[in-house]
Amino acid sequence: MDHLPSGSSILQNEPLAKHTSYRIGGPAQLMAFPQDEADLQFLSAQLRNKKIPYAILGNGSNVLAPDEGFPGLIISTKELYANLLHFSGGYVEVGAGVLNARLLRASSELGLGGIFFLSGVPGNLGGAVFMNAGTGLGWIQDRLEEVTSFSLSTGLHVHEKSSLRYAYREQFFLPEDGVILSAKLQLLSGDAPTIKAELVESVKKRKLAQPIELPSCGSVFRNPPGKNAWQLIADAGLRGHKEGGARFSEKHCNFIVNEGGACAADVASLVAMAKREVKAKCGVELQEEIVMLKPRYLE
Ligand SMILES: Cc1cc2nc3c(=O)[nH]c(=O)nc-3n(C[C@H](O)[C@H](O)[C@H](O)COP(=O)(O)OP(=O)(O)OC[C@H]3O[C@@H](n4cnc5c(N)ncnc54)[C@H](O)[C@@H]3O)c2cc1C
Repeated sequence: MDHLPSGSSILQNEPLAKHTSYRIGGPAQLMAFPQDEADLQFLSAQLRNKKIPYAILGNGSNVLAPDEGFPGLIISTKELYANLLHFSGGYVEVGAGVLNARLLRASSELGLGGIFFLSGVPGNLGGAVFMNAGTGLGWIQDRLEEVTSFSLSTGLHVHEKSSLRYAYREQFFLPEDGVILSAKLQLLSGDAPTIKAELVESVKKRKLAQPIELPSCGSVFRNPPGKNAWQLIADAGLRGHKEGGARFSEKHCNFIVNEGGACAADVASLVAMAKREVKAKCGVELQEEIVMLKPRYLE
């Protein structure tokens, strides 16, 4: 298995650190960059016939990849319908591999907004739809009209608006082995210069509030109802605490940053410490937003 039907190469022993915003992760035994449904169909047959473990990776901005690498196939969605960006009548159809930043830029050029909350959220559309990405100003679920996915065991699914069940950073509608291919979003008409100015302002605010100059995955924990995870971590006395090359950021302590040479074990150790200390000192159970990259098998 060295090529997909589209001609795209399947890489061997590819360092995951090259594909995660943390810059952490050992080699993936195999890594494929499917471009379309036919490539995914080919991969699903290989996974089933050869009983290879797999995981799906978007742009890698919310995952922790193991130091020891991945013993199977990483399906990267970076090239998956990465040229699909079709605007029509206030709607846009976007491929999974399109970066949020590109979607925002193209929409704002046309005077279309309503997805302001994706500004400064690294990653691609597939990752945003899977994670229900957003901020206090809105989540992607608010603008979704339809999602198309490919189940590695049952093929194509079209999920209409009424079936898109979501919660905070969670979805409940995809099949277990579903890969998001594309989504249709409803945008809001506005004035191009105003929309662009809002995006610039939002990036400025992020720079002030978040340690975006260092590798991270953004917020590590979800905010518990009515509370801020960063506040709980600070109250537990962990602001600035360090393990190996990883540290709870001084600027925003729900970010664990890679200060150079951090490994997954350093980050995992800080995650476990925050859960333990916040439970002991504040009586609150923190829940991870960060996703641990783990092998799965097709039935
Ligand atoms: C500096 C920084 C700031 C951030 N700020 C925010 C923020 O304000 N709000 C926010 O919500 N997030 C934020 N994040 C987290 C991250 O950017 C989002 O979760 C993003 O949506 C993840 O997209 P991705 O493409 O990188 O997905 P990945 O991190 O690669 O994957 C995340 C999960 O989605 C799954 N997945 C990805 N693509 C697909 C697909 N096509 N089909 C099926 N499953 C898929 C993966 O298997 C994994 O479980 C931030 C991250 C950083 C580094």
